[in-house]
Amino acid sequence: MGVLDIVPPGVLTGDNVRKLFEYAKEHKFAIPNVTSSSVVNAVLEAARDIKAPIIIQVSQGGAAFFAGKGLPNDKQQASIAGAIAAAHHVRTVAKEYGVPVVLHSDHCAKKLLPWFDGMLKADEEYYAQHKEPLFSSHMLDLSEEPKEENIAICAQYFKRMAPLGLWLEMEIGITGGEEDGVDNTGVDNSRLYTQPQDIWDVYTALSQISPNFSIAAAFGNVHGVYKPGNVHLHPELLNKHQLYAEEKLGGKKKKPLFLVFHGGSGSTKEEIKTAVQNGVVKMNVDTDTQWAYLCGIRDFIQNKSGYLQTQVGNPEGADKPNKKYYDPRVWVREGEKTLVQRVKEACTDLGNVDRL
Ligand SMILES: [Zn+2]
Repeated sequence: MGVLDIVPPGVLTGDNVRKLFEYAKEHKFAIPNVTSSSVVNAVLEAARDIKAPIIIQVSQGGAAFFAGKGLPNDKQQASIAGAIAAAHHVRTVAKEYGVPVVLHSDHCAKKLLPWFDGMLKADEEYYAQHKEPLFSSHMLDLSEEPKEENIAICAQYFKRMAPLGLWLEMEIGITGGEEDGVDNTGVDNSRLYTQPQDIWDVYTALSQISPNFSIAAAFGNVHGVYKPGNVHLHPELLNKHQLYAEEKLGGKKKKPLFLVFHGGSGSTKEEIKTAVQNGVVKMNVDTDTQWAYLCGIRDFIQNKSGYLQTQVGNPEGADKPNKKYYDPRVWVREGEKTLVQRVKEACTDLGNVDRL
């Protein structure tokens, strides 16, 4: 039995999202996700080729980019419009690729809540027409706030989200490094490792509202890729969280938590495997896919340099046109090809191949 026996192709919402994550947890695989607008099609292509469900997400900055860097974003208007545009794009094309997609928005810190509010409004409007939300899932990241406030704000939003069939991803403990202007490079080391009691506090608060949530716990994760040796990842800690929650629940449910792995780029295959064994159902891979996207374009520009200096005239003759080299469909496609390969590699590391 594969994923398509459980959920349909296209964007998933409501209990279908949980069914997919439950299946992933049971079969010990996870689904990577990538951020950005122009890479959506390449990600879907990779997922289709290897028969894998996939997560597509937009970050606040990625969403603004989707709408266009020329737009003002002082009230998050570009991030809201871009996220909505990306969602409609994914909804329109995903079915053609025949793969189930979880459509997600990434980290939303307290100061970015107007972005979250804008997306939620779009979900409610979409729900009024289609009986499902526009997105599958959103992340709230109040990990920099005190624990009580973090949980309270998540619960408050989750009460509004759950009836629409929206999944909530929240973060407790801090992902180190820097991403999209949120700089956690100076954060105290102990905060980079979430404690089991913190996870349990989240679980008790949110499970009263709906079972459709996941927790991004910190286990030494850092956004971005750095020199080996600077990052001390401890995915084995995730099993402690599962066992702690299992015991609190009276042993009735094995691995009760849906866990999320942030800062997955640059991790070893062994670390990824341990994380998946311990109930990680989603791993964010952004930095590595950004790099992959560049590589194809960079190599093309370097290899075809003689064809890219003027519109007419190349090593084959002074009157030869270069249009078939400088057409964006040619060189952007080269980036897509290397990205497709990298997404396939990430899916393979996570055991997410031949799952449909
Ligand atoms: Zn992250």
